[in-house]
Amino acid sequence: MNKFEKVRGMHNVSLEEANLWSHVSSFSTTLLKSFSYSEIRLPIVEYTDLFKRSVGDETDIVNKEMFSFNSKSEKSLTLRPEGTAGCMRASIDLGIVDAGPQRLFYSGPMYRYERPQKGRNREFYQLSAEIYGIDSMFAEIELFQIIEKIINNYQIKDYSLEINSLGSEDDQKKFSKALQNYLKPLKSNLDKDSQNRLEKNPLRILDSKLSETQELLINAPKISEYRSQASNDKFELLKKLLNDLEINFQENINLVRGLDYYNDSVFEWKSSSLGSQNTLCAGGRYDSLSKKLGGRATPAVGVSLGLDRLIMACKDKFVLPSTKKIAVIALEQGFLKKSIFLSEKIRSSFPNIQIRNSGLDNNLKSQLKKADKNNFNFAVILGREEVESNSYTLKDLDSGKNHEKLSLDELISFLK
Ligand code: ATP
Ligand code: MG
Repeated sequence: MNKFEKVRGMHNVSLEEANLWSHVSSFSTTLLKSFSYSEIRLPIVEYTDLFKRSVGDETDIVNKEMFSFNSKSEKSLTLRPEGTAGCMRASIDLGIVDAGPQRLFYSGPMYRYERPQKGRNREFYQLSAEIYGIDSMFAEIELFQIIEKIINNYQIKDYSLEINSLGSEDDQKKFSKALQNYLKPLKSNLDKDSQNRLEKNPLRILDSKLSETQELLINAPKISEYRSQASNDKFELLKKLLNDLEINFQENINLVRGLDYYNDSVFEWKSSSLGSQNTLCAGGRYDSLSKKLGGRATPAVGVSLGLDRLIMACKDKFVLPSTKKIAVIALEQGFLKKSIFLSEKIRSSFPNIQIRNSGLDNNLKSQLKKADKNNFNFAVILGREEVESNSYTLKDLDSGKNHEKLSLDELISFLK
């Protein structure tokens, strides 16, 4: 029989790598809770219109990257390509947006129909944090602190934070028009993608990675020339706070992000250790999204960390804290019950140790060999001699030393 292949753009996670995934999940959950963020659990399937209205009809994500399908009642549904829109939808629905400032986080899979390559899958995971109801740049700074802590904990090297300000929605409209007017006479020199964007989403042209297009942009109007005083003041404050906190950053005047809902601050962390898909984390402010989705006007800012890329960047360097492993070995059928009780006793005394009850296998030698091969530190042996004398033999698999005739109390205090 042929074996099944995985679906293109999906990723099998090895058991070793899964340990790292779970470490990232528990580290970041603890961290976010220490900043008083609440976890919000969100559906993976949403109505397609949610993304059209929020992310924007003319963005790559909505235009070409969505996994959409019709429900039986012919409604168009989409596997979420990003989390911010769904989080806002659910928060409006649940009344969270109405309840004053909120700090939320979630993580899970996102789906985009992209060309798979290193660092780019069709199913990928994001960890996201969103702040609602805080107008001040203080909110951005808090998100920066959190992301920097995660990046540093996983020892990601050679990363940099890039920031820009897109100004208000109004500023963006004026700037888009000016950019369009500047680029129209140069249209034939633009790449195909940029030509398509010229009419409907000229800001995205700034994001082009092609050097020919970047050259044409050198003399183009700049967003800073179109930013209102209020937006400029916010941006200056953001930079001042970053300096005060000694968080390194670079201003990138062409940073625009691929989603329509952003205003004012946008930011990305890039790392050269990632290869060509070098963006590790990205986000920005989206003060108008709540209203666009039928909620009350609520300032908001959020950030999404690409977990696949984080893991890719750290998996060969980050050393997981080791946990002690103990194998409990019963050599006769009649000793199984005792071995189960013993395992329970050790588990309740040492919640952070891994205890594997080996079940029945009367070949002690092969059992010890297996335990050693699987990096167990100790084996507790329940043979006839031990059971008859109501004692235990503890074998230290690292040193090879035996400790015989231990009572239960002695065994437990030894393991301490
Ligand atoms: P990119 O420029 O890499 O396509 P993006 O601007 O589309 O990124 P966002 O929507 O801002 O990405 O998503 C935030 C983060 O999620 C990215 O910085 C990246 O780490 C991760 N990410 C996005 N798309 C993918 C993907 N297809 N595969 C793996 N990770 C991804
Ligand atoms: Mg993308």
